[in-house]
Amino acid sequence: MSFSDMPVDVGPVYEGERIRANQMYVELGGPKMEKHFELVRVKNPKDIKDGQVKLIGPDIKDMKEGSTHPIGIFIEVAGPELEEDLEAVFERRVHEFCNFVNGIMHLNQRYTNWMRISKAAVEKGFNSFQMLGTILIRLYKAELPIIKQAQVTIYTDPKEIEKPYEMAMEIYSKRDERARTIHDEDVDMYYGCVLCQSFAPTHACCITPDRTSLCGSINWFDARAAAKVDPKGPLFEVPPGECLNREAGEFSGINEMIKKRSLGEINKIFLYSGMEYPHTSCGCFEAIDFFIPEVNGYGIVDRNYDDVAINGLPFSAMANQTGGGKQMPGFNGISIQYIISPKFQQYDGGIETVVWMPKAVKDRVAEFLPPDLVPKIATEEEVKDLNKLKDWLKEHDHPVVKTWTELEAEEEEEAEYEAEGAMVPMGTVGMTIPGVGGAGGFKIILKNCKIHAESIIIKKIEPKGRK
Ligand code: SF4
Ligand code: ZN
Repeated sequence: MSFSDMPVDVGPVYEGERIRANQMYVELGGPKMEKHFELVRVKNPKDIKDGQVKLIGPDIKDMKEGSTHPIGIFIEVAGPELEEDLEAVFERRVHEFCNFVNGIMHLNQRYTNWMRISKAAVEKGFNSFQMLGTILIRLYKAELPIIKQAQVTIYTDPKEIEKPYEMAMEIYSKRDERARTIHDEDVDMYYGCVLCQSFAPTHACCITPDRTSLCGSINWFDARAAAKVDPKGPLFEVPPGECLNREAGEFSGINEMIKKRSLGEINKIFLYSGMEYPHTSCGCFEAIDFFIPEVNGYGIVDRNYDDVAINGLPFSAMANQTGGGKQMPGFNGISIQYIISPKFQQYDGGIETVVWMPKAVKDRVAEFLPPDLVPKIATEEEVKDLNKLKDWLKEHDHPVVKTWTELEAEEEEEAEYEAEGAMVPMGTVGMTIPGVGGAGGFKIILKNCKIHAESIIIKKIEPKGRK
């Protein structure tokens, strides 16, 4: 496959390219745009004009430098072995293939897709979406040889994108709806995905019916279809093996998989915990589930939320902490679908421990949560900072409030021991760093750990979105 007719280079080596605001020519989609999407559909070959790229809306060369536009990337593919279940997995490759282009940065997926095209690329002559469409078609057919025909339609017109956007949203919800029909106990095979290892080399997703991938775009059915057609590809079977801890979701087969795929960095995973041996996070999680020690509960913040979360930190600051393929107790990258899974962090207390989430997320998940819990979960409309959260939760009789008395009792007991000069086991150490995060400071709990450090650097974060 050759790209010698293109003004810019194309290849996996450009995948990690970052394009900062001052280097970009245009921005497409992303949090500033309301409607944008990327979608792949399997079609009948007679409905496809192989190689065709259609643009509906202004082209790159018609866009003003520094401007932001909607983007809809609609890819239709055909091939005798293709089935609908493969659509989501093909769709996830848009991210990778766009990032192959020197001069394009692509982030996220589905309706959160976000792209930047660099000034340098446009100067070299990369000034048309025709080129992007052609590159995508060539890559799809070369990298996924079961695709025999492909055509691409790119939408950049704010009016014209509306209909296909609605269609895409409907298809995403149908996929999610189907994923909710089965559970981890109903199947004897789980799946893994290492598509994100180019960004997070120790990260591998474990996809089960109750745990849709953290990018939100690959559910168990999608992963199964992908592993079937290309068992040696980035999505593969993970036999669960022996169940070592049902509550935590610990399986010998998953532990073996993560050990192998993380090159020995990570030895075990609790599928249903954000605090103990949590699933690793790459960088494309839809949301972060974070521990709030002040109330012994959890908050959830999604990628689209542009203010600071209840703990005083914006998504971006927490994302740095969460991602990169590390196991990060208290900061867990998750999909929105996982929030409504019956297994959601069940080892840590489950959905009943969630105290705060942005209104937009709550609106999406509320109908699937226990009805009596919904009014007890605060959003930015009710509570904006930690100081008020405690009282609000008390007033609304949130289930975590009960755990406070238990905790207080434990603390009192510890204080008594200390007063008597006894040694308190150092299994859990709490410390407060004033001035970081919310007005109440920032509590870090170190559980069962030994620390050796030559120095500790604590930097104050001044988030941009902070008000
Ligand atoms: Fe695959 Fe996970 Fe990356 Fe999604 S987040 S593409 S499932 S590795
Ligand atoms: Zn990722």
